[in-house]
Amino acid sequence: PPPVVAIVGRPNVGKSTLVNRILGRREAVVEDVPGVTRDRVAYDATWSGRRFTVVDTGGWEPNAEGLAAAVADQARLAVDAADAVLFVVDATVGSTDTDEAVADVLRRAKKPVVLAANKVDDARAEADATALWSLGLGEPLPVSALHGRGSGDLLDAVLEAL
Ligand code: GDP
Ligand code: MG
Repeated sequence: PPPVVAIVGRPNVGKSTLVNRILGRREAVVEDVPGVTRDRVAYDATWSGRRFTVVDTGGWEPNAEGLAAAVADQARLAVDAADAVLFVVDATVGSTDTDEAVADVLRRAKKPVVLAANKVDDARAEADATALWSLGLGEPLPVSALHGRGSGDLLDAVLEAL
């Protein structure tokens, strides 16, 4: 079977939008309201002639106080089932407690992690991406899932990590 790439991150950072960008079609459900994607959904994807399975996560509605723990649990499950992890953070918001909880999980996991600094829609927002070095997961790769900016480089990095 093709290798599995899990997309993890807290609600509303743009995971499903990024999945659609990777697929080149609109299949993953994108909503302004967090928590719309069903629990975990797998799709077949191809990039540079290589096939892989992309798993979109995060279809639950945790209450605010349980958010960090719930997202970290989800990340743990996704990582166990994946060959590589694409961790999505909203660069315009910066790293939150929940992002840090996920980063802790991912640093402990013995799986390759690619850090996507999403919502970098233009050159001015690149500085927001740089701030995410603080998560301790290596270079934050700036991307705009919505507009496609940086998505080719991001996918190259994902395939390199596999
Ligand atoms: P998920 O909960 O992590 O799956 O996030 P979604 O993919 O559902 O996106 C949440 C919101 O962020 C939607 O309103 C998207 O249109 C928006 N969004 C996603 N990616 C980007 C991006 O690169 N730039 C901007 N400006 N908005 C984005
Ligand atoms: Mg989603």
